Amino acid sequence: MRWVVGNWKMHTTPSEAYRLALRLREGLAEELERYPQVRVAVCPPFPNLEAVSRALQGSPILWGAQNCHEEVEGAYTGEVSARMLAELGCQFVLVGHSERRRYACESDAQLARKLQRVVEFGMRPVLCIGETLEERRSGQTAAVIERQLSGVLGRVPATAWAGLLVAYEPVWAIGTGVAATPEQIAEAHAVVRHSLLQQGLPPEVPILYGGSVHAGNAESILGIPEVVGVLVGTASLRAEEFCAIVRAAIRQAWC
Ligand code: PEP
Repeated sequence: MRWVVGNWKMHTTPSEAYRLALRLREGLAEELERYPQVRVAVCPPFPNLEAVSRALQGSPILWGAQNCHEEVEGAYTGEVSARMLAELGCQFVLVGHSERRRYACESDAQLARKLQRVVEFGMRPVLCIGETLEERRSGQTAAVIERQLSGVLGRVPATAWAGLLVAYEPVWAIGTGVAATPEQIAEAHAVVRHSLLQQGLPPEVPILYGGSVHAGNAESILGIPEVVGVLVGTASLRAEEFCAIVRAAIRQAWC
């Protein structure tokens, strides 16, 4: 199984999102029906989910959200719950993207509760982890990965691991145009796998790489052992480029 997940961040209006989703459907539906071992999902901003669901309904392309609140409902002005997302047909929710850790100060304890909510409402969490440039430069990459994984997964019961995907996204590679090297990715993914196994998670948990993935580097990144998918930000907003990344995943799935 290979995964390609698009994170549209705070881009697109509902009508733009609808058109982008339609272009992906036109570009990919036939191939994805032929190659079901490649799963593709897009995560638009909350207000665009309904439009995207209309564009993608009945196609092999799935959709998800970029975040959710840890409570099911309540007086949390401006927040969106997992229950709402599930009713909108979301199958995935990003949990702990570095931009949310940074700008919304999300803690591991809070992320653990979000992750549980996602699973409770039948969706799959994509837990994002990764070190900053300072942390890498000071040799803390492995320690940060282990701390982030145990900080979230160690706080939830094993039942909440269901359907988990992990995305290793070095913060310094996100949106910079500079992806991690294959050696850096392989090394970090080995740490992620080791840490997951040590915590008792099954060896099938998919580990994705994210950080400046584009049409030109996707195939080689997807060829790295342990990398079973990519989380794509900037390049996921360009329909043709995103389709090219998915085709790279299809080729790799056949290797
Ligand atoms: C992301 O936002 O998760 C991401 C990987 O962004 P980009 O592809 O732009 O680096």
